[in-house]
Amino acid sequence: MLKVGITGGIGSGKTTVCKVFETLGIPVFYADAVAKQLMVTDLILMDGVKSTFGQESYFENGILNNKHIAGIVFNNQLELDKLNALVHPAVFRAFDKWALAIPSSVPYTLKEAALLFESGSYKMCDKNILVTAPLTLKISRVMQRDAVSAEQVQARIDKQFTDQQKAKMADYFIDNTENTSVILQVLDLHQQFLNQ
Ligand code: ATP
Repeated sequence: MLKVGITGGIGSGKTTVCKVFETLGIPVFYADAVAKQLMVTDLILMDGVKSTFGQESYFENGILNNKHIAGIVFNNQLELDKLNALVHPAVFRAFDKWALAIPSSVPYTLKEAALLFESGSYKMCDKNILVTAPLTLKISRVMQRDAVSAEQVQARIDKQFTDQQKAKMADYFIDNTENTSVILQVLDLHQQFLNQ
């Protein structure tokens, strides 16, 4: 079965685009949401987090001590790399398990991940889509959605590859600027994937 990766900068609208694919019956694996869940359910990952960042990474009731972890990895690329090196394999394992349960009648699946290119996981997909939108639009969308400042959004954007860097690794593009028809673009790609 064809595996298609889908990504885009923060606020590009990749999750929104995935919802359109879902209406066509295409299963979507939301890697970032799964990663969050695995942090409190995957025992291998949890053990790795505790031995790398300390037992205080979790409270006694098993809840993740977000403040502790964030305090270590925030603005520290080395520590963030360590966390990613623990999380990414757990997500790959979860994706493989998830993909096995998809019926063979499904023509293709989507894997949505914010850091698809940065993590290298795009290499495990047969094709990759980049969702794009102008910077100002991305910032205003996230400000509205998360009730944060433009500076806070910009700080998150600065941690990701630029669209120009991502474009070099993408096979397909969806322009999610206001007034562009996302649905028509999705239908066009859907048809191309069905033909493959
Ligand atoms: P993140 O990386 O932060 O998860 P994202 O790329 O998944 O962001 P979305 O959450 O899909 O982005 O979209 C960001 C916000 O913009 C949401 O509130 C969404 O409803 C809105 N949005 C996205 N696309 C459109 C669109 N074409 N028209 C109107 N609103 C949109």
